Amino acid sequence: MSVLVVGSVAYDSVKTPVGSREDALGGSATFFSVSCSNFDQVSLVAIIGEDFRDQDIKLVESHGVDVSGLERVAGRTFRWSGVYGTEDVNTRTTLDTQLNVFADFSPTLNESHRTEPYLFLANIAPSLQLDVLRQMKTRPKLVALDTMDFWIEGSNDELTEVVREVDVVFMDQGEARSFAKAANLTQAAKTIHDLGPKTVVVKRGENGVLVFHNGQPFAAPAVPLDRVVDPTGAGDTFAGGFMGYLAATGDLTERGFRRAAVLGSVMGSFVVEGFSLDRLTAITRNDIETRFRQLTELTRFEPLADDETLPSRTK
Ligand code: AMP
Repeated sequence: MSVLVVGSVAYDSVKTPVGSREDALGGSATFFSVSCSNFDQVSLVAIIGEDFRDQDIKLVESHGVDVSGLERVAGRTFRWSGVYGTEDVNTRTTLDTQLNVFADFSPTLNESHRTEPYLFLANIAPSLQLDVLRQMKTRPKLVALDTMDFWIEGSNDELTEVVREVDVVFMDQGEARSFAKAANLTQAAKTIHDLGPKTVVVKRGENGVLVFHNGQPFAAPAVPLDRVVDPTGAGDTFAGGFMGYLAATGDLTERGFRRAAVLGSVMGSFVVEGFSLDRLTAITRNDIETRFRQLTELTRFEPLADDETLPSRTK
């Protein structure tokens, strides 16, 4: 099977406790597609400006991503800048968001894109997410959506409209709380379920993810790392592994969603080890398999045997 993604392709300027980068390749669709390309075919729909570097297109293409839906127009590429906390690298403040060429983007999907079985509406204006969903000829087997505080605060009605039409929602814990207006994450997931999506994935940075599938919670930890260089793109890279697994296996059972979450965590753990896509574009199949096994070992414990009871205090 194969995956279609619409989202941002960007130049990011970030400052982390380790250092800083100006105008580095980023964007939700970029991280997603490179991550997903490790498991399945992926096509990208986005817009870039005349300032976009050819070498960056080549980098994405070299990972087997179909970039025929990447449109180049006059104007500047989307730009985002953010700073990460020195005490807690999971806290991020957006300094600036410039939509630039995305302000007037109206994607036109080609014939093959319109029948893709897996669709990922990556973080971008909800109106664009809806536009792409409406252009699909047949309802994909699975439609997932990711978003960000910028859209939750600025385009809440349109976002709610798209959320009602998708199967899977990805949000980080702050976004889920603010979108659902609930401090408790289980309650927030329930509010989102009630709008329609069967699966709600709540990303919690270095604390891993909570997946609520048909109301059943499942937790996958993040891989413990010695050094985090730049968390930008972790959520999109997670989603790339998650959707890539589901599309490649077609396993949309509870078990499939759980395994997808573990593979998502594995993929997210690589991208944060470098700035931009530096580390993500350098990993091998062997790196992915080794880390998948490490994460499985991390959570393995021997359950009580059937004839064994929990110890209880006797005195
Ligand atoms: P993540 O760290 O996974 O949440 O994603 C970070 C990426 O999202 C960066 O590469 C940014 O270019 C991109 N981004 C930031 N703000 C927005 C926005 N409002 N809409 C679309 N993409 C964005």
